[in-house]
Amino acid sequence: MASSASAPASGSSDLPHITVLGSLNMDLVSYVSHHPEPGETMASNAFAISPGGKGANQAVACAKLSRSRSAGQDSKADNATATAHVSMVGAVGNDANGAALRANMSRQGVDVDGVQVLDHDGITSGVAIIVVDEPTGQNRIILSPGANYAFAWHEGVAGGGLIPPQTQLLILQLEIPLDLVLRALHEAKALGIPVLLNPAPAPATEEARAKLEAAFAAGKDTKDKGIAHLVLNETESAALVPGLTVSDLDTTEGLSRAAKYFLGLGVENIVMTLGGRGVYYATATTVAQSNGEVGELVPPEKVKQVVDTTGAGDTFAGQYALEAVYASSQGRAFDCEAAVRKSNRASAITVQRKGAQDSIPWLDELE
Ligand code: ATP
Repeated sequence: MASSASAPASGSSDLPHITVLGSLNMDLVSYVSHHPEPGETMASNAFAISPGGKGANQAVACAKLSRSRSAGQDSKADNATATAHVSMVGAVGNDANGAALRANMSRQGVDVDGVQVLDHDGITSGVAIIVVDEPTGQNRIILSPGANYAFAWHEGVAGGGLIPPQTQLLILQLEIPLDLVLRALHEAKALGIPVLLNPAPAPATEEARAKLEAAFAAGKDTKDKGIAHLVLNETESAALVPGLTVSDLDTTEGLSRAAKYFLGLGVENIVMTLGGRGVYYATATTVAQSNGEVGELVPPEKVKQVVDTTGAGDTFAGQYALEAVYASSQGRAFDCEAAVRKSNRASAITVQRKGAQDSIPWLDELE
């Protein structure tokens, strides 16, 4: 059983319920000695197929970090130890990748009833073809979103909506059409469900940025507030805050400026992950009590050796989401700093292992 101070007792029939609405992709990764020239055919040094997609990764993070491994089976969840129910809502094609993506998530404890299998117009599951230049470690990625972009609101799970009504926290990213994300924000607000938004990948156009900004501000000054938790990295912060560059975030002034911008739009808790620098966080409560300095920099956990940072941000978001949903389901005030510190611990384990979903720790490893 979980010994986390904040986690509810395992085996409960009404576990805190997190829903992730987002992408599922199969990552096909070739490791090469150099990136191929136009017209060149070359052999790779190694090849790997692994489940990915930001939505799927974050759902797996929530599931693994809220349950232990089944004894003797490293890749399978022991659902009897679960301290949260995690649902994935998304879409795959009717193909082998889709079947593998659903099966893999289910093995790790994610409820995949909301992952639809689209069987029309030759839609395929999302695929990322990743070519890694081994000498430099540089990636070239071709993303074919397939079903992730063919998923429509009318294919929702609950009476035409997309969010299971028992959801206590909704997690969203930007690897599905922005209009779908905006509708989900709207639906969550109507249902009174708090949202954790991880705006990744960063919006590429000013139009998309402005639409998101409007969605952030939509709850401002009303009793049902705006976005409860905004969790984002430096690139995403710079893309969203007008006039801000990534290098501005090297200074406390820049971090504070970004935090003030988001808090001004009505975001309740703003959490900027800064890789090896740790995390800067600010909350509507702390800003109300401060005389200028709005946020705080929390250092990362010390690690022996950084092996592969893939999935670190998704692990962080997963643990943070669990802390948020445990607090609300127990009627406690949310302690943003404590959530950041615990999430730092979880992602510090991820960066010391290879892979994305595989590198995310189980609850028993965190303890
Ligand atoms: P990704 O897209 O690779 O999943 P990200 O850019 O969204 O990652 P980062 O800010 O790079 O997210 O990292 C997320 C968290 O992982 C950090 O806030 C920190 O807690 C942890 N982390 C990352 N790098 C290190 C490191 N070198 N040492 C310790 N912890 C780290």
